[in-house]
Amino acid sequence: MKKKLFVLSGSSGVGKGTVINGFLKRNPNYSLSISCTTRDKRPGEQDGVNYFYLTRDEFEKSIKNGEFLEWAEFAQNLYGTKRAFVDKCLNNGKDLILEIETVGALKVKEQMPEAVLIFIAPPSLEELEHRLRNRHTEDEATIQKRLSAVREEIERAKKYDYTIVNDEVDSAILKLEEIIKKEAANV
Ligand code: 5GP
Repeated sequence: MKKKLFVLSGSSGVGKGTVINGFLKRNPNYSLSISCTTRDKRPGEQDGVNYFYLTRDEFEKSIKNGEFLEWAEFAQNLYGTKRAFVDKCLNNGKDLILEIETVGALKVKEQMPEAVLIFIAPPSLEELEHRLRNRHTEDEATIQKRLSAVREEIERAKKYDYTIVNDEVDSAILKLEEIIKKEAANV
């Protein structure tokens, strides 16, 4: 039986990774898709585990060959989900989660209207701004750039099926579980 595709997005700084990992720990039968990227490997990351790391040339060839279900440029790097990877998981009876940014997520929805889009939102923009400023790691121009990117993402998220406000991690994990279980049962 063909399974469901869940697409999760959230701005950086909202704790999206923590929520998704919390869900996967409680629900090990769900798979997380492995994307392709042209960005450099971070310390501790592994090829074929965190991402498939491609050169820009390799990535562009795959775009030309129509291999991507979706792809997008983010912070000067290309990110994309291979169609074959998704089809293989779904046809093998696995519900699959994609953790991708909002431009790519809306491209998935255009091609697969049955995909369920879930946005993990910060409690408020003011709160996010406060968190960014308190880290003292970015200058004012960078903070402004990041906030305007978040505003754009929140605008795109209006087209999502669900929004979870991450004001408390444990309850965000439970909300995510509730949505995914309800949708997974509703094939
Ligand atoms: P990072 O470089 O921090 O791992 O990811 C940066 C951003 O790229 C995150 O918002 C992440 O959700 C997004 N991303 C990761 N994989 C994909 C993908 O396959 N497609 C798209 N559109 N975005 C992705």
